[in-house]
Amino acid sequence: MAGVDQLDQIFFEGVADGQLRVQQCSDCGAHQFYPRVVCKHCGSEQLKWISASGRGRVASFSVVRRGVSAEFEAPYIVALITLEEGVTMMSHLVDVEPEQVASGMAVRVAFRPVGGADIRPVFLRAEVS
Ligand SMILES: [Zn+2]
Repeated sequence: MAGVDQLDQIFFEGVADGQLRVQQCSDCGAHQFYPRVVCKHCGSEQLKWISASGRGRVASFSVVRRGVSAEFEAPYIVALITLEEGVTMMSHLVDVEPEQVASGMAVRVAFRPVGGADIRPVFLRAEVS
């Protein structure tokens, strides 16, 4: 069974390849994020990795008016994103003004350095067709 560190490693290797990886259970079909060693829905250890579509919607958000450090230029937006696959992840919403963000807004993933650090998945406003 893979350890938690290995799971993080697989996720971040995906990020380096421009993929947003989430787990899918081979037994019940459920997706999950963050990565775990067992399926949170049915307890199965038969988990595989898939590359998520990267499309989702803002579930909730918070506008941070004072950055946690000089590298985080305020204001910025931290959001809970629900992906098409049904999983929710905490991320940054970028290239969106705080006045424009709304719950339910369609977003898509991008990969950017966050806070002057490593490349992380962030989300941009998606064009809705
Ligand atoms: Zn399952």
